[in-house]
Amino acid sequence: MGKVLIIGCGGVASVAIQKCCQNSEVFSEICIASRTVSKCDALKEKLEGTTKTKITTAQVDADNVEELKALIRKVEPEVVLNLALPYQDLHIMDACLACGVHYVDTANYEPEDTAKFEYKWQWAYRDAYEKAGLTALLGSGFDPGVTSVFSAYALKHYFDEINYIDILDCNAGDHGYPFATNFNPEINIREVSAKGSYWEDGHWVETEPMEIKRVYNFPEIGPKDMYLLHHEEIESLALNIPGIKRIRFFMTFGESYLTHLRCLENVGMTSIEPIMFEGKEIVPLQFLKAVLPDPSSLGPRTKGKTNIGCIFVGKKDGKEKKIYIYNTCDHQECYKEVGSQAVAYTTGVPAMIGAMMILNGTWKKPGVYNMEEFDPDPFMEALNKWGLPWKVSEDPELVD
Ligand code: NDP
Repeated sequence: MGKVLIIGCGGVASVAIQKCCQNSEVFSEICIASRTVSKCDALKEKLEGTTKTKITTAQVDADNVEELKALIRKVEPEVVLNLALPYQDLHIMDACLACGVHYVDTANYEPEDTAKFEYKWQWAYRDAYEKAGLTALLGSGFDPGVTSVFSAYALKHYFDEINYIDILDCNAGDHGYPFATNFNPEINIREVSAKGSYWEDGHWVETEPMEIKRVYNFPEIGPKDMYLLHHEEIESLALNIPGIKRIRFFMTFGESYLTHLRCLENVGMTSIEPIMFEGKEIVPLQFLKAVLPDPSSLGPRTKGKTNIGCIFVGKKDGKEKKIYIYNTCDHQECYKEVGSQAVAYTTGVPAMIGAMMILNGTWKKPGVYNMEEFDPDPFMEALNKWGLPWKVSEDPELVD
């Protein structure tokens, strides 16, 4: 049906690309382009002969808008799926706009020198995309992404009004290392070492990092410690879910992870301020990334499950109602299917689905949109079909 240019060839991209190849009726052609072209070539070689999707590869520096434009003009895709890092979002959005191509990503823009992610930079493109008749779909991963679609689905089918949302991200997988991150270590550590925040009564409430801890008994997993973090979907859901009073985001962390993180922070290894080392400028966090296990190597070692979902509390026909919509995913099952652990899997599958929604016209409308702004039903159906089936619990435990 159509051609997609995929930028990035890391953990998430590798899953999304394999899922596109399983769905070759929609993705008749893909071009995989990244900084290190050998990774793209290796994946192409692994997949060719197993799929009808035609695969090409290219080298690109996604920080260079002119290079991106030249590549887009050469490949002529209908959609660009950005699976590089959040720092590249605006460059890729600029290039798509200049070339008249739709845009999809999984994480919102973050300036490289400030650990602060906000939608304001990407929302500033709304008029330009609308005038150009192009769609930019922001945050088509799991959280944000599927959690945003769960919110739209809950509102459409279960509630007249949603007042409280708690987004829970539980990874009960064990990779056997004392410390490793499940996706890009730099992005992950920037996220968890930042101050926490949640939305309440129309404004942000800021917390110290890891200040708020709760224990939650996750279906199919059991009780886990979880901590309140700032998370990007809170910003858009606060605008798009009418009647909302509070939105919080919690992620589970084990004791070993937190002890290591605290120690690394205390000695300055998580800093993003450049320092001089033996006559060369280095960023401590980027150096740390270089010595940590590569997240894509965790697949064969990681055992256990993830459970990610949203608890909604609100009203239906004048009565109070609560539900938990969630997905559980087994690390080893993901590894068997695509050679990756569940964190990459749960992001890569919705990335493929987001690109499909634009390519087949289901979610095409000019402008810049977050996931909850579209009809959730086709996306929810696609999740069931493409490996992330979801469940609804009508009597969930609440988080106090
Ligand atoms: P990885 O670090 O594994 O992969 C990033 C890829 O982008 C690598 O192939 C890298 O190339 C490439 N890249 C980086 N910079 C450039 C550049 N300037 N030009 C071209 N290519 C570049 O990251 P992940 O796969 O773990 O994460 C990908 C994205 O998914 C991130 O934005 C992350 O925040 C997001 N994410 C979203 C989630 C969600 O639920 N919404 C959950 C998890 C991740 P090279 O191989 O040369 O390093």
